[in-house]
Amino acid sequence: MFNLNELLRPNIRDLVPYSSARDEFKGEASVYLDANENSLGSPLLKWYNRYPDPLQMAVKEKLTTIKGVTPEHIFLGNGSDECIDVLIRAFCEPGMDNILIVPPTYGMYEVSAHINNVQIKKVPLTPDFQLDLPAMEEAVDDFTKIIFLCSPNNPTGNSLHRGAVEALLNNYFGLVVVDEAYINFSRQRSFLSDLQEYPNLVVLQTLSKAWGLAALRVGMAFASKEIIDVMNKVKPPYNINQASQELVLKALDEVEQVNEMIRVLVEERGRLERELPSLKIVQKVYSSDANFLLVKVRDAKKVYQYLLDKGIVVRDRSSVILCDDCLRITVGTEKENSELIEALKQYQ
Ligand code: PMP
Repeated sequence: MFNLNELLRPNIRDLVPYSSARDEFKGEASVYLDANENSLGSPLLKWYNRYPDPLQMAVKEKLTTIKGVTPEHIFLGNGSDECIDVLIRAFCEPGMDNILIVPPTYGMYEVSAHINNVQIKKVPLTPDFQLDLPAMEEAVDDFTKIIFLCSPNNPTGNSLHRGAVEALLNNYFGLVVVDEAYINFSRQRSFLSDLQEYPNLVVLQTLSKAWGLAALRVGMAFASKEIIDVMNKVKPPYNINQASQELVLKALDEVEQVNEMIRVLVEERGRLERELPSLKIVQKVYSSDANFLLVKVRDAKKVYQYLLDKGIVVRDRSSVILCDDCLRITVGTEKENSELIEALKQYQ
């Protein structure tokens, strides 16, 4: 059975989190002399002399209306990269525990684990980029605290089969993290609506992709209240700065504008999927549920350098497992995509 207390690192279970005077009294005051801020103001306009809301309640309440998940089930990180790091720090004992990843996948699971001196088990995806459940079952041991999945997957672009993820959620009693950074571009349903059913599920999303707010560094983890409480205990107190909180609040009112951008990007993805395969150097365009395409070419390193010389930078993934001779190409504006196609057409 899933048991959160057993899964946690003992020092985190017993941790007394940092707490400020404002956490303790929670009300409004007329004079704030509790946090060693500069009461005179700041060189900038407004209230940047004061620390921001550590739990970002206004942002979370607005997210509730968009995501249908109440604030006690939401954790905000300085990008979803911070969510990944906080999860590893809370659940994995350095030098003892491990995480399981399924390459090719997003690089930060491995990097975050390394930074925290946490072991990494790797079970590659199958050649069609799906989970190899028997091999994963074999690889998991008593010290495997977290399985990181990415769907739609970076860098392959496909979604993982829902049934396989559900099998893991049912049969594995550690945390299953489903990283949905690219979910807004996907034809598949999010795992957000499954949170009630699975106490070991953590869904990651971000404002860096479809929402177009990569610079603000705001990522989201959705999970049971118990898991979210742990993440809040471990995070730095003011991990989302005031400027980001204000701007995100404003941006979250623009759902329609974001939906329109998603529509355009998905349409452009379709155009690239149709047009790229007819080019001589393109060998395969993998089907994508994300805002990028994995494209197999003849001699990826050469094509990468050729594009770079033309001022077009893509991601060379040719050294990544199962991605021989592959480039990962973000879907850009209509004009950028046309430039890319034109450049590849001219490649000799
Ligand atoms: N997860 C995946 C799958 C990603 O591709 C990325 C960014 N490339 C992230 C998480 C991190 O996103 P951020 O920290 O900007 O929220």
